[in-house]
Amino acid sequence: LPETRLYQSNDKSPLQIFVRAKKKINDIYGEIEEYVLETTTFINALHAEAEIVDKAERELFESYVYKVAAIREVLQRDHMKVAFFGRTSNGKSSVINAMLREKILPSGIGHTTNCFCQVEGSNGGEAYLMKEGSDEKLNVVNIKQLANALCQEKLCESSLVRIFWPRERCSLLRDDVVFVDSPGVDVSANLDDWIDNHCLNADVFVLVLNAESTMTRAEKQFFHTVSQKLSKPNIFILNNRWDASANEPECQESELAKVKSQHTERCIDFLTKELKVSNEKEATERVFFVSARETLQARIEEAKGNPPHMGAIAEGFQMRYFEFQDFERKFEECISQSAVKTKFQQHSSRGKSVSGDMRSMLDNIYERITIFRNLKQDQKNMLTERIQGTETQMMQVTREMKMKIHNMVEEVEEKVSKALNE
Ligand code: GDP
Repeated sequence: LPETRLYQSNDKSPLQIFVRAKKKINDIYGEIEEYVLETTTFINALHAEAEIVDKAERELFESYVYKVAAIREVLQRDHMKVAFFGRTSNGKSSVINAMLREKILPSGIGHTTNCFCQVEGSNGGEAYLMKEGSDEKLNVVNIKQLANALCQEKLCESSLVRIFWPRERCSLLRDDVVFVDSPGVDVSANLDDWIDNHCLNADVFVLVLNAESTMTRAEKQFFHTVSQKLSKPNIFILNNRWDASANEPECQESELAKVKSQHTERCIDFLTKELKVSNEKEATERVFFVSARETLQARIEEAKGNPPHMGAIAEGFQMRYFEFQDFERKFEECISQSAVKTKFQQHSSRGKSVSGDMRSMLDNIYERITIFRNLKQDQKNMLTERIQGTETQMMQVTREMKMKIHNMVEEVEEKVSKALNE
């Protein structure tokens, strides 16, 4: 426990809201499991010995054991999930890599992601890959090999490849964030399947746009479908490649600000008026102008001990880098809070109802036991009374017998002495 406390106080990341809630609900369910097991053993014994509990009741208690075990398993696996969408080459893989601070997903020409790729943390420092429908762990030595593995495979576009990366290499993976990269929304006709298979349990969606062009119909359509299927999806919009706009030879600062405000307005309108998933204030906190490639380069430099600006691509690096960090902070707050609600709220009320139901069943059994005990006591009292009655009768009889014998002995004695005298 002290170790956990130390870890918590040192870590100010908003993701800790989820990490702590997960630990807490898992601990509570551990206790519920113990309680359910103990109670079931007790109930089974009651059934065998005194038949106070009937078969149906005993089976109901046993069903709680399985229910609680199943919930515990789900809870242990629960994580926060973020899914990235947008057209091919907008920089989805680069954004994920920048957030992971390492080039994990292959990106760039020739490395178009043609299926869903999920990056999640692995324990024990292992890096490996798993294809859908198989338990085989395919070893991943480096990024080149991973890229080849993904390209060579003839994978269906809505299938999933899971990439396991050592947790300790990235704080987001350590804190149970799972990243999902998708094929471009422009290349698929199966958006419905995508959403059903990969999106329904996502806590946050990130739309990666190319800041050099406007949002396309395909990109908009995809999110329209998502918001029809999910009640209020959390959507962030990244206008990526913002470095390229700054690099335009004749681009003045005022011009850049104008482009930025036009894009911002369109994105906010999309979230508020079209999708109706956010209010105005929330939407302004969900739109960012970034350069994923530059951020990744900066972080790779930082890891080498160099200043981040060594990764700069164009003028205005500091602003873009700051905006990427701002996005990450808001993203972490949002995903953590949303995941606690969607993943734990239901289970916490299930836990409450299981313990409440068991309690009232036990109260009921207790009442029956009390009635049963009183009944036994009455029977015992009656028996005692009867025994006492019998005892008194016996004493009476014995006394009478004694008297009779005494009289008989006296009579005999008298007769004998009389006979002897005679
Ligand atoms: P995806 O298909 O959406 O996953 O896009 P990728 O991440 O594979 O990026 C496609 C290409 O765009 C790669 O060559 C990246 O290096 C490049 N790229 C991605 N983000 C940026 C950026 O912010 N600025 C610039 N200049 N290039 C980028």
